[in-house]
Amino acid sequence: MKITDSVRRLKGVGDKVENNLNKLGIFTVEDLLEYYPRAYQTYDVPVDVSDIIPGKHLAVRGVLHRSLVRIPGGHVEKTAGTLVDGDTRLQLLWYRMPYLRKQVIAGKTYIFYGVVKNKNGQWTMEQPEIYEPEAYEKICSTIQPIYSLTEGVHQKLIGKLVRQVLEEKTLFQDYLPEKLRMEFQLAEYNFALQNIHYPKNQETLTLARRRLGFDEFFLFALAIRRMKASRERSENIHPASDRTWAEQFIGCLEYRLTNAQLRAWKEISADFSGPHVMNRLLQGDVGSGKTVIAQLTLLTAVQAGYQGCLMAPTEVLARQHYESFVNDFEKFYQKTGICLRIGLLTGSMKAKEKRAVYEALETHEIDILIGTHAVIQEKVHFHDLGMVITDEQHRFGVSQREWLFGKGSLPHVLVMSATPIPRTLAIILYGDLDISVIDELPEKRKPIKNCVVDPGYRPAAYRFIENQVRQGHQVYIICPMVEESEFMDLENVLDYTEKIRKILPPSIKVAYLHGKMTGTQKDEIMERFHRQEIQVLVSTTVIEVGINVPNATVMMVENAERFGLAQLHQLRGRVGRGDDQSYCIFVQSGKSESAKERLEILVKSNDGFKIASEDLKLRGPGDMFGLRQSGLMDFHIGDLYQDSDLLQVAGDCAKKYENQIPENLERRMERYMRLAGNDVIL
Ligand code: ADP
Ligand code: MG
Repeated sequence: MKITDSVRRLKGVGDKVENNLNKLGIFTVEDLLEYYPRAYQTYDVPVDVSDIIPGKHLAVRGVLHRSLVRIPGGHVEKTAGTLVDGDTRLQLLWYRMPYLRKQVIAGKTYIFYGVVKNKNGQWTMEQPEIYEPEAYEKICSTIQPIYSLTEGVHQKLIGKLVRQVLEEKTLFQDYLPEKLRMEFQLAEYNFALQNIHYPKNQETLTLARRRLGFDEFFLFALAIRRMKASRERSENIHPASDRTWAEQFIGCLEYRLTNAQLRAWKEISADFSGPHVMNRLLQGDVGSGKTVIAQLTLLTAVQAGYQGCLMAPTEVLARQHYESFVNDFEKFYQKTGICLRIGLLTGSMKAKEKRAVYEALETHEIDILIGTHAVIQEKVHFHDLGMVITDEQHRFGVSQREWLFGKGSLPHVLVMSATPIPRTLAIILYGDLDISVIDELPEKRKPIKNCVVDPGYRPAAYRFIENQVRQGHQVYIICPMVEESEFMDLENVLDYTEKIRKILPPSIKVAYLHGKMTGTQKDEIMERFHRQEIQVLVSTTVIEVGINVPNATVMMVENAERFGLAQLHQLRGRVGRGDDQSYCIFVQSGKSESAKERLEILVKSNDGFKIASEDLKLRGPGDMFGLRQSGLMDFHIGDLYQDSDLLQVAGDCAKKYENQIPENLERRMERYMRLAGNDVIL
């Protein structure tokens, strides 16, 4: 078998299975091997019911004294039984599995595998896996992979196919020279593949992760060095040396720029008059004031006679930027008589409106275009685009790069990001971008007051919210779900909105926002929130990025334990943006001490990077995919926080070996570049 063979060659793969595997991006044997588990399950030695520990995966040995029964009522068909051991009772509960009532026999010993929770005062295991003791014996003390699935592809199927391939021992010739492997203590590649899917033990899993994580970082770092080398630094064909407008604009602001903002602005404006086109990353934590720097930058480009654009990841953000730009530049016009024409372009606009914008851009009747990435890239032709800024986007992908080159005019590029990454790593990750950091918050700003509370505190919180609204402020309440779910006992936006409307006096307007609404609906709500027609906004995390309503002073997060700390940190950046004292209330449901300890990190620190690394320390490597799932990372297996040393090593290695790359590494590189596609930065 060759790794480039189609999965079709494997036993058990016919048309249908092949099709389904393709949906997961698995076409070849190699794709399958690189389809790493999303997580792992360890099957420990079974315990008795009296020894159960809530909150973690357990195998519980027990005998059902009575047959399983159907539980009446509810939307979903339920089957249940109870294990009894002395004084301890454990309820077993399955949804939509009526056939179990025949299969599971009373009086026989089984092993039930799942998580024990307290459900309405009763110890309960939901959807436990059921094993006969002999069958459990076979997997006991092993670590089993869990894969992400799609319709028609089950755990067992992927597991079986992977095993089939792994049985053919040496599939790959390791492309890393042995010398290098020894130097950096990296496991052999076939060993790593074997152990990432079916680890012998925790130790071999760690070795496998380290090796594969290294590969990912290494190829990434190489790819970036490649791109940098392949592209001579382009000449600056949009010079702009006159900064009088920018200085006037700074003079009109109601506040003074922080030193960090001034430094960033100085670096950016030096690029404008330098010999090469600008390629800069502007990094600054939430609330550090990146927008005003974007305004100065665009203003300077316009003064020099070019057009500029600002791309945002969502409609809500684009519209918000548009409104604040229109507002700020109107004030600027009042004071200076200098008029900038701002345009907006988003997906939900009517075709006719869009056409008008396209035309105005080609005839240079718009100076600054603000819109979503997708829309701007699709159809827009500028008359003379000199400056492109992207906001809150971690990376600026290859497709964007091609788009820029397609414009023919090689504009300056500024990438703004709030992702907290230390400088040493940013240098590797952002390759040839120059980096400016705003590492200081506006001084007048009062630090947000935070607290972690349990649901019993809610009445007090609502009184507090009412009070804040009386004082003219606004409030966000974040829930993890949009609507009620049968399987998860979590707060949801729709029911919560109903509930809180009844609790708060009718004079307080409550509205909701979530990702299933259309762009136009979301915009409308956000606009009304901006105009203070809505005082309390119940929302999912769709409001996470960049929303700026300085009048909002309270954020209450329900089921805070469900969110990653980095995400909560981004979320709370929505308050504390004005001069007034702001508050963040994290409501923790459940009594987990470790969850509380984790949330307390947010109370203690306001430094995005520190929060992310502390979070990791607490959760430990057991939850190795946790952070990545929080949406901050786009590496498959490497984790920027946990593996920061590895990234450093991989970066050094790429530098050292870039000119002596063996041929089979070349092949891997090409594959990596192709798969990474959009993710590789400019
Ligand atoms: P972010 O970096 O998260 O994009 P913004 O640019 O949205 O932050 O700025 C957050 C808020 O801080 C805005 O209301 C902005 O007007 C205000 N702001 C920016 N710079 C300063 C400053 N130097 N002093 C006081 N307020 C500022
Ligand atoms: Mg912003």
